[in-house]
Amino acid sequence: MLHVAIVGAGPAGFYTAEALVKRLGAAVAIDIIDGLPTPYGLIRAGVAPDHQSIKAVDRRYHAVLAGGVRFVGDVMVGDGGVGVDTLLEMYDAVVLATGAPHDRKLGIPGEDLPGVLGSAALVGWYNGHPEFADLDVPLAHPGVAVIGNGNVAIDCARILAKTADELASSDIAVHARAALVESAVRDIRILGRRGPYQASFTPKETAELGHLSRARAVVDAADLPDAAGDAALEPGQRKVIASLRAFAAAPADDKPARVGLEFFARPVRIEADGGALRLTVERTRLDGATLVGTGVEREIACGLVVACIGYASAPLAGVPFDAGRGRFVNDAGRIAERLFVTGWARRGPSGTIGTNRPDGIEVAEGIAAAVMPAGRAGAAGLDALLARRGIVPVTFTGWQAIDAAEVAAARTGAPREKFVARAAMRSVAGC
Ligand code: NAP
Repeated sequence: MLHVAIVGAGPAGFYTAEALVKRLGAAVAIDIIDGLPTPYGLIRAGVAPDHQSIKAVDRRYHAVLAGGVRFVGDVMVGDGGVGVDTLLEMYDAVVLATGAPHDRKLGIPGEDLPGVLGSAALVGWYNGHPEFADLDVPLAHPGVAVIGNGNVAIDCARILAKTADELASSDIAVHARAALVESAVRDIRILGRRGPYQASFTPKETAELGHLSRARAVVDAADLPDAAGDAALEPGQRKVIASLRAFAAAPADDKPARVGLEFFARPVRIEADGGALRLTVERTRLDGATLVGTGVEREIACGLVVACIGYASAPLAGVPFDAGRGRFVNDAGRIAERLFVTGWARRGPSGTIGTNRPDGIEVAEGIAAAVMPAGRAGAAGLDALLARRGIVPVTFTGWQAIDAAEVAAARTGAPREKFVARAAMRSVAGC
């Protein structure tokens, strides 16, 4: 029997487990270990709560667990928990599928002021991640600045702009829904340091901004490039630009809020201004592919700044880490003998959920080709270690109890009411 430990119960971990089972069948025993009591990683805590169709992929991961792969939840690896070196003693192969949970820093003065958040924190807050349940998200000021031109920036802006009715069929955390109902936010600006052609929005996410019930999407036509260039764009990008052009051309309406997409605006500094914040941005221009500052600055008054500028993986003791790129040093998913990495921890934080699937297949093939069973203890070894340390993990059965309780507690029209406290989850799981 080949014993494999996968660290991280998100999409990257599940696609690897699925591929290993497909490749090795009954000859492999897999433990998926996660620091949270709940599986599915970004599907539960990252994908926007109003994008339920994307979240439906969790059924596929559920089938992996139902097929016999073990879930070992609420068990930390690294950071004072079980070491990667210890896992390598117990398992024939260890796969790091730990994602990229940390916010990248803006590197400008004022980014540590209260009211300045990274997207991992804000997204974790509205998705009910236990670590961010108590986050203070100031929503009493009309202005919000969302920095970055990726889909996460759109997600954050859209959730902040939506009404309670629009969120009714979502699984947004109860504390976030309550705070958003009271929100005074009505002037949300998504700020890109480069131009519309350089934005990494995708078509569906961009178009959605044009269908918000209380907020109008606004683009300054002067920021848009000459339409003659659109024909040369890749089809998806052309659709993004078409949406931006439609927003710029749309007549004013009487919606009480706006989501402005503002380009060529590079954040320079953030200052406290009474009870609020003042974000200074510099107008930029592109000299070929190079971003150039013009020296022209303007100020944006807001109560909340959300930096959606990408993520970094969390380093693990003894595992080579590329701090500049925020990921583990690896060669096609191999870090060292019997130690592998997949997903964002391998490639960096880019791509859709499905992009992790080929990664998982490649790592599974690498394990099948290079790692032989060596009589290691596998699950029995981990269970004995956890018992010695007095740690009772949340199992698949425990997770099923949490899942059933969340679904049973759902408000009308919503898929579930999430638990956010670990203690509550553990109690329902019988731990
Ligand atoms: P992203 O697409 O890489 O966008 C990051 C943005 O941050 C870029 O516009 C980048 O600008 C900007 N940026 C970086 N450093 C900056 C700085 N110091 N100051 C100002 N701006 C800065 O990343 P993401 O939005 O975090 O998304 C991560 C991945 O998840 C992406 O592949 C995304 O498509 C995916 N995702 C998909 C969905 C969906 O399909 N619904 C939802 C959410 C996320 P430059 O380009 O100028 O560097």
